Amino acid sequence: MEKTNKDLFEKIVTISQSRGFVFNASSIYGGLRSSYDYGPLGVSLKNNLAASWWRDINNDDVLSIYPVDTAIIQSSEVWKASGHLAEFSDPMVDHKPTGERFRADQVPDDIKKEDLTEPRHFNLMFETNIGPVKNENSAVYLRPETAQGIFVNFENVLRTMRAKLPFGIANIGKSFRNEITPGQFIFRTREFEQMEIEFFCKEEDQEHWFNFWINKRLDWYKSLGISEDKLRIRPHEEDELAHYASKTSDIEFMYPWGWGELEGIANRGTFDLTSHERESGKDLTYFDPETNKKINPVVIEPAGGLTRTLFAILCSNYDEDTVNDSTRTLFRFNFDIAPIQIAILPLSKKDNLINISKEIKNNLQKSFRTEIDLTQSIGKRYRRQDEIGTPYCITVDFETADDKSVTIRNRDTMDQERVEINKLHHYFENI
Ligand code: ATP
Repeated sequence: MEKTNKDLFEKIVTISQSRGFVFNASSIYGGLRSSYDYGPLGVSLKNNLAASWWRDINNDDVLSIYPVDTAIIQSSEVWKASGHLAEFSDPMVDHKPTGERFRADQVPDDIKKEDLTEPRHFNLMFETNIGPVKNENSAVYLRPETAQGIFVNFENVLRTMRAKLPFGIANIGKSFRNEITPGQFIFRTREFEQMEIEFFCKEEDQEHWFNFWINKRLDWYKSLGISEDKLRIRPHEEDELAHYASKTSDIEFMYPWGWGELEGIANRGTFDLTSHERESGKDLTYFDPETNKKINPVVIEPAGGLTRTLFAILCSNYDEDTVNDSTRTLFRFNFDIAPIQIAILPLSKKDNLINISKEIKNNLQKSFRTEIDLTQSIGKRYRRQDEIGTPYCITVDFETADDKSVTIRNRDTMDQERVEINKLHHYFENI
């Protein structure tokens, strides 16, 4: 990491903890390495990102996308069929002098090759047991991806929704991987959230949908305010492809330490449905009414990380500028995803100002995320709201009772304008 970006990384980690985005898990016991808890603002940001993802994929005339929310613990047969029991492993090396273990492709530069063992495979799935007796039949696994929950429900969704190709099934939720080298804050953790779509299409349309999804997903990241020069598409080399993929391109983001994966878009072909068909003995084909033939749909998978996206958003939306000779720190979150969209700041704690503030909040909170902020001077309150990325502050002042108006202050431009209270809703609906 070059100096400035190392600074950025440290600032993000510090603000996350001090302002309530992300905390170290079990922090009162000294923390658990690479486990994190999301605080009030982090939960809001995460929920808003998930909602934005869903709105984006569900808001297009040409797309039919069905949601599912599948169990973390599935039958072990699922992981046998998907190849995760046999294949989901990383080559690992041990550092002989210290016993430390690293992913073979992630050994720190200062370690000498001759001090390392030969690479060995290490399965990344967390194993646990179901029921009171622990034996070889009771072993189950925490899901390492949300995708398989989709494939095993393919027929359920097809039948109950009378789905027609092309269509997608989307799943969002926790996944677990016993990563050997987790780190860089919430970039790589053992427990994380994914947002995955399996998009089923006809073989002849696979190229079209592969490119369509790359562009659509890239546009979504840009719509969150990530600048174009911090995003790139990187097609996988032949030897990096996962066992199920014939083609993959990653959407990469410029993290404080360099380029890294944000989302992978893979052509999984017919691998998953045919594997589950073979293992389960169930018919997982699609009856094509145009040709009267059963076919195996091809699958294009945009697989993103919700918690990783949250980290990318913190990095790319963080900013500093100078106001009245002092540094102002802020997150330039879009209105759509900001944890608090509108803060209401009564100029004093006098009853009438507080009552007007509460009325404004009651009116706005049906449509927007709002809070009343009472503590400290108005200047400090503006700074706090800037620091948590609130796009607008409404100041309720001593004239408000007479002119039935308030001052709206814009986070980015710091411009202020006077607006009538009964026009506030309309104002924010139209920004
Ligand atoms: P990486 O190469 O970074 O380990 P991957 O290629 O194994 O990632 P996928 O299996 O394609 O990841 O998972 C899809 C997405 O899930 C990733 O693009 C990433 O956003 C997210 N993800 C995967 N592993 C983790 C993790 N350990 N912590 C946080 N997010 C993760």
